[in-house]
Amino acid sequence: MKSWRTPRSVKPPFGSEWTAPPATRIFDNVSFIGNVIVGCYVVETGDGFVLIDCMEPDDKSRDTIVRGIAELGLDIHDLKAILISHGHFDHYGQADWFRRNYGCELYLGKEDTVLAKTLALDKWPVIDYDMDHYYEDGGILKFGDMEIMTVLTPGHTAGCYSFILPVWDEGRKHMAGMWGGSGLLPDSDPYAYKASLDRFTALCREQHVDAELCAHPTLDNGLERQALARCIVNGVPNPFVIGEEGFAYYMGQYYALLEETMIRRGLK
Ligand SMILES: [Zn+2]
Repeated sequence: MKSWRTPRSVKPPFGSEWTAPPATRIFDNVSFIGNVIVGCYVVETGDGFVLIDCMEPDDKSRDTIVRGIAELGLDIHDLKAILISHGHFDHYGQADWFRRNYGCELYLGKEDTVLAKTLALDKWPVIDYDMDHYYEDGGILKFGDMEIMTVLTPGHTAGCYSFILPVWDEGRKHMAGMWGGSGLLPDSDPYAYKASLDRFTALCREQHVDAELCAHPTLDNGLERQALARCIVNGVPNPFVIGEEGFAYYMGQYYALLEETMIRRGLK
């Protein structure tokens, strides 16, 4: 039977015109700021907040993040760190600017340093500065009362990291998983990607991950679910809490992307 669903959407090309939706709280301690192409997560820690990713290196992205932080009622001076999922410019875009202006510390996977400093794919802007920290595979980063697990998941890039963190809603604790590199690019390693998917999916199951975060909202109907989150009433299930089975189902789409890539490259 033919699927009734709209095919998985592809994100608009970088440089497309966009309008940012309002910054949106999706959990007591987590909010999204971004647009249809890419975004970042604000994670409140009890002692300031951290960003996971920081959009593209253009003024509009910067303004969107700065305005979003204010919309959430946060003080930008409480920004402690930026956790960059991988060495692509749409994830590290504003890192240096925030560090220079607000003194936050920057984290990246060590294996992506060379990539972020040299990659010229599609003339993407590279970085000319160093990080403050590199992640530890399977390590726990502590900020205030928040503990974020960092997992090396090579494939999309060699030093791509994924995250597992606790989130709260209506007094309930959930565990959220964020797969760091979305699909496969021409230089992505499909075998490493497969091994990382297997490992991260198993780890999320072990950690009882039942909620999902994604930097590219075209992959998970993120903006539509945020629209619901902006008006959700007490008692209605949080659209980002999808259950442990739901999380495994969601990860299935990355296996599907892998399969498509393998067939396209004649590897299957
Ligand atoms: Zn990327």
